[in-house]
Amino acid sequence: MTIDLDPATGPDSQLVERIAIRPGHPDCDTARTTVSGTAAPAVVLRPTSADEVAAALRHARAERLPLAIRSGGHNALGFGNIDGGAVLDLTPLDSVELIGDGRVRIGAGATWGAAAAALAEHGLAITSGDTSSVGVGGLVQSGGIGWMVRKHGLTIDSLLAAQVVTASGEVVRASATENADLFWALRGGAGNVGVVTSFELQAQPVRTVHYGTITFGLDDLAGLVTRWGAVMREAPDELTTTLALIPEMGPMPAAAMLGVCLVGDDTAALEPLRALGTVVDDDVSERPYSSILEEAPHPPPHIRPVIGNALVERVDEPLADAIATAYAAGERMVFLRSLGGAVGRVDPEETAFAHRSAEAIVVSAAFLTVDSSEAEVAAVWAVWRTIGDHGIGAYSGFLGSATPDDIAALWPPPTLDRLRQVKRVWDPENTFRRNFNVAP
Ligand SMILES: Cc1cc2nc3c(=O)[nH]c(=O)nc-3n(C[C@H](O)[C@H](O)[C@H](O)COP(=O)(O)OP(=O)(O)OC[C@H]3O[C@@H](n4cnc5c(N)ncnc54)[C@H](O)[C@@H]3O)c2cc1C
Repeated sequence: MTIDLDPATGPDSQLVERIAIRPGHPDCDTARTTVSGTAAPAVVLRPTSADEVAAALRHARAERLPLAIRSGGHNALGFGNIDGGAVLDLTPLDSVELIGDGRVRIGAGATWGAAAAALAEHGLAITSGDTSSVGVGGLVQSGGIGWMVRKHGLTIDSLLAAQVVTASGEVVRASATENADLFWALRGGAGNVGVVTSFELQAQPVRTVHYGTITFGLDDLAGLVTRWGAVMREAPDELTTTLALIPEMGPMPAAAMLGVCLVGDDTAALEPLRALGTVVDDDVSERPYSSILEEAPHPPPHIRPVIGNALVERVDEPLADAIATAYAAGERMVFLRSLGGAVGRVDPEETAFAHRSAEAIVVSAAFLTVDSSEAEVAAVWAVWRTIGDHGIGAYSGFLGSATPDDIAALWPPPTLDRLRQVKRVWDPENTFRRNFNVAP
């Protein structure tokens, strides 16, 4: 039910004042800062319940404030922040509750590190990302590519239900049997259809994993990439890896580092990885799953990251050559993260993440300075395209731009059409537009 109260005088106004952080508030500096930098929102609202989220939405609408939705604040484009608008900061909604049969209800504002730590106490884990401070809310909207992705799928593949505050201010439940169109769009729809306040997810009985890094010499980069693709194609689902090609950075030498996560104890699956190239270092060991989510360093304010990604169906020689050539051009990190396994067994129509045939995702990050010329930025993108052209699409979690081409890369035409239809039903006025936007 939608309650249309006068926001200036009704109970909403007192509530909004209680949860509002405006310029001059002692928490203002932290509240207006995310990993992508600092903005100047008119107000940051920190609701503590779904009803307060609804009141905050009514307030923003009544004041005609453009809206940003924030959970963990890790969107690279600053979608979780907005100059002159209202930020709905969901960080107070950070509970993690067991609800029976390994099912877990997690608040959208929790971080994946906190969720993993809470679940570890019960011998449970959910495949999510690789970084502890990433928010539950934003990662699930993207899909969720984590260290157990090949065994347990994307994070959205573990989603059973969600509580959602819609653009009209209704609090609804979405699942396979309740508001199924909304449930479909929440799984990969990049935040277009509503504010999720909590997620119900199926956790898995996982205490420890074999995790660590195998470092290789850089003598035959294209060969290393091709061999990695071939080994991962045959690997058991229990094995998920990320091949990181890191350029020399200050005192740190250039390196090819293979991040490895094996679920279960069949460590024979690791041996083909050790034969991929000349092993310089190897620290793979059994560790608690909750300890492998790490913190990532964030670029300092004078750095302008240029980030692209491509989902690829085959890591083959032409792609490997393109990656090796782009890497040799300098100043570029390239990450190849394995997909396939359980991800590929989900019907592309089942969720709004449709690129199920990808066997890997290639992510490239180049670091320019904020005063770099547009020609320098364009040159970096031109090199990226030599890799990106091998892809079938892109992943919203790792996109550093939001052009019409990017939107087309996120969703194949039938998925985009369906997402637009759901958007027309649940957000016809495009209230939720500060995202990879699908106009209704
Ligand atoms: C250092 C780093 C490491 C990362 N590692 C991984 C990884 O391993 N795997 C992976 O899959 N992704 C990864 N990502 C990408 C990450 O999943 C996305 O950036 C995601 O959007 C971050 O979620 P957040 O809640 O922290 O971000 P926010 O900036 O708070 O949210 C991003 C956007 O998501 C939408 N949104 C957020 N919360 C909600 C909500 N509750 N309801 C509706 N819409 C919402 C909004 O549009 C919002 O602007 C990483 C990003 C960074 C910066």
